[in-house]
Amino acid sequence: MKIIIQKFGGTSLSSKESRQKAVEKIVFIKNKGYSPVVVVSAMGRKGDYYSTDTLLSFLNDEFIKNNKKAVDLLLNTGEIISSVIMCKELYEVGISAMPMTGGQAGIITDNCFGNAKVLTVKTNNILEIINCGKVPVVSGFQGETETGDYTTIGRGGSDTTAAILGAVLKAEKIEIYTDVDGIMTADPKIVKDATLIEQMSYDELFNLAALGAKVIHQKAAKIAADSKIPLTIKNTFNYGTGTSVSNSKEIYCDKLITAITHIDNRVQISIFYEDNKLNNNYFEVLNELSINDISIDLINVFTDRKIFTIDQMELKKLDLILKDLNLKYNYRDNCSKISLIGSGMRGIPGVMAKILKTLKDEKIEILQTSDSHTTIWCLIPSEYTVSAIIALHNVFN
Ligand code: ADP
Ligand code: MG
Repeated sequence: MKIIIQKFGGTSLSSKESRQKAVEKIVFIKNKGYSPVVVVSAMGRKGDYYSTDTLLSFLNDEFIKNNKKAVDLLLNTGEIISSVIMCKELYEVGISAMPMTGGQAGIITDNCFGNAKVLTVKTNNILEIINCGKVPVVSGFQGETETGDYTTIGRGGSDTTAAILGAVLKAEKIEIYTDVDGIMTADPKIVKDATLIEQMSYDELFNLAALGAKVIHQKAAKIAADSKIPLTIKNTFNYGTGTSVSNSKEIYCDKLITAITHIDNRVQISIFYEDNKLNNNYFEVLNELSINDISIDLINVFTDRKIFTIDQMELKKLDLILKDLNLKYNYRDNCSKISLIGSGMRGIPGVMAKILKTLKDEKIEILQTSDSHTTIWCLIPSEYTVSAIIALHNVFN
């Protein structure tokens, strides 16, 4: 039995026409003698009837904070609806399929509602369905606790479901279908002449996903890398080759920059020694944030100040912690972290200078920078994100 996992994102399922495109991909694999295991996201994006964001919009922050188990129950419905409707689409072309919740597909999680951890996968149900010649259509993004509560496994969770099933079912391949041609040199919705990256290594994929390339979630990239299952990211709406990810050596050494990504909703925090000089907590602050599980990045420590960024969602929590430590701080919100990624920049002088000049010519304020051998990060005000990405892409492509 040669299994191929085929995951379809929300936009690939939002209309009858798009679902028919998805069905074509499933039929194609089946006709080649493979056993497809389909994983579906909720249909559409915010505003569409049963998308995750639409379901969430029925609730409010207060309820969400205090009723995580109920929220997960509601969110599970999005993917369940999607799985049944996809089965019906397959039925119409003569393919017998079986919709499955995450739990029915054997995905057992802890009870950390909203971001549950997958503990084990019981493959017997899913294998039984495949052995009967049917196509399992698994609701992505979800699992079930040992005691039968429905959970969700974090945003981007359908990618994770696909990667986990690929690993436990020892699939030949994992195919992630979305609404763009694969992983591109920048988000094609921002940069019209972004080009497809045809091949990359798991490391490069993980890096891109972690730095905001959205197309696949970083957790899924990590699982695929660990299980060494070949992965492709393709467009549901055409027959392009997409991006193939494998354990090959890094491929883009001939280019300085492989891709440009961004993450919005960053807040820059500055804590000055001058404002806190009688307070010993100043020296412990990064440690305190780590103990309290606040994830920080772009960390610059100088003798007179410490600067770092956090996600906007963590600002309230950070404020409470710093007040508790009696530390004064400044913050600047509405920032975006732009990342320029490329193993080709290793040891090449002047890349940062070129980036700074490009942004300066565009009159874009640079709030902070940082770099490693293969990535350069710039923090800028979010209002300039689009113009910065377009200008940098022009210069480096
Ligand atoms: P899906 O619903 O299929 O999971 P996502 O919205 O999660 O789709 O991811 C696909 C989107 O990722 C694309 O529509 C595109 O706008 C965005 N994107 C961001 N960066 C990139 C990139 N470097 N290459 C391709 N797409 C990107
Ligand atoms: Mg996605």
